[in-house]
Amino acid sequence: MRFCSRCGAEAISWTIPAGDNRSRHVCGACNEIYYENPKIVVGSIPEWEDKVLLCKRAIEPRYGYWTLPAGFMENDETTLDAAVRETLEEAQARVEITGLYTVMNIPHTNQVYMMFRSRLLDLDFGPGEESLECRLFLESEIPWTELAFPTISHTLRLYYADRRAARFGVHMGDIVREQNRAAFIPRLTHG
Ligand SMILES: [Zn+2]
Repeated sequence: MRFCSRCGAEAISWTIPAGDNRSRHVCGACNEIYYENPKIVVGSIPEWEDKVLLCKRAIEPRYGYWTLPAGFMENDETTLDAAVRETLEEAQARVEITGLYTVMNIPHTNQVYMMFRSRLLDLDFGPGEESLECRLFLESEIPWTELAFPTISHTLRLYYADRRAARFGVHMGDIVREQNRAAFIPRLTHG
């Protein structure tokens, strides 16, 4: 950034503010400090009998790849609200949230993913603005090599492992880069 969005001065520097321990953008004119913090991405795993609903992305990044409905949380909403809204926006699907399922930290992209399990209320769904196509998949039909993000593939792998064990926990862990793949490191599992 060049201009201070508080006072308009072209006086931004990258420096450690007094009493802090890491660099921030700081305005030399009005002393505003611009803190940047991780963004929260929220979504759901919409279930219908033994199938889950996936959306084919109509936007970059990962245009044409499949994902669970998910997106950035908005101000003035709760994580539950965000999961329901994203599912409605991307898949035009109405769901009831049935539980928190995964919390994944992604330090290298400054994001935290929170995925909830949900139950489709009806089969009246279809692609929203950001999707090319939405459809229900059996486990045997999941397009594993065409999933958009590691958070989505790791969430689905945990989901099917739990389903085989007939016991759904809540999984918290980290997505980390290992060579050229993104591994999931479990930290805490509840239930
Ligand atoms: Zn300023």
